[in-house]
Amino acid sequence: MRVLLVEDDEPIAESLTRGLSRYGFEVRWVRTGAEALAAEDFALALVDLGLPDVDGLDVCRELRARGDVPIIVISARSDEVDRVVGLEIGADDYVTKPFGVREVVARMRAVLRRVQPAQAEPEAHGRVRIDRRGRRVHLDGGEVELTPKEFDLLAFLAEDPGAVFTREQIMEAVWDENWFGPTKTLDVHVGVLRRKLGDAASLETVRGVGFRLVLP
Ligand code: CA
Repeated sequence: MRVLLVEDDEPIAESLTRGLSRYGFEVRWVRTGAEALAAEDFALALVDLGLPDVDGLDVCRELRARGDVPIIVISARSDEVDRVVGLEIGADDYVTKPFGVREVVARMRAVLRRVQPAQAEPEAHGRVRIDRRGRRVHLDGGEVELTPKEFDLLAFLAEDPGAVFTREQIMEAVWDENWFGPTKTLDVHVGVLRRKLGDAASLETVRGVGFRLVLP
């Protein structure tokens, strides 16, 4: 999913871009309001309020006037007035700096769920159905018993079927944001999912890189 990041602070933008890409988001980073308003084809916008050319609130207002794309304000300004104004002019949520990538991703997912209620419906992937809200998986109509981590792993890979996720991306998204240890537990979970899903889905090993989920 493509995300527009409007942020003039380079270290913040770089760490957020890196962090979000680990969660499978494709980030288009721009530094100014003008560039933000020229950008196209993104599914969600993260907008800093303190921009070099215009007020970030004006960017939010203009994006909202153009359509329904979800907007999350990211700002060092923590005062209540900005928060209220931001939400009043149509931003969907507000995150105050400093923040962790995990918090931003959680807000993004929550906002996307709210604006795209269709996604709350179980996703059909061939014979496999994934109900993210109920955290249940059905195979040929029968429920597959999965542990929480097995579910998280399958749900993460199923966000972009066919795409390769690195072991690090998976470990950080499913287990812990700061995972530096061995990834044996990942192989164990992949093995269990393969057994439970049988030939309805294949978790392919991409040697030296990671895994991809292929759904026939
Ligand atoms: Ca700024």
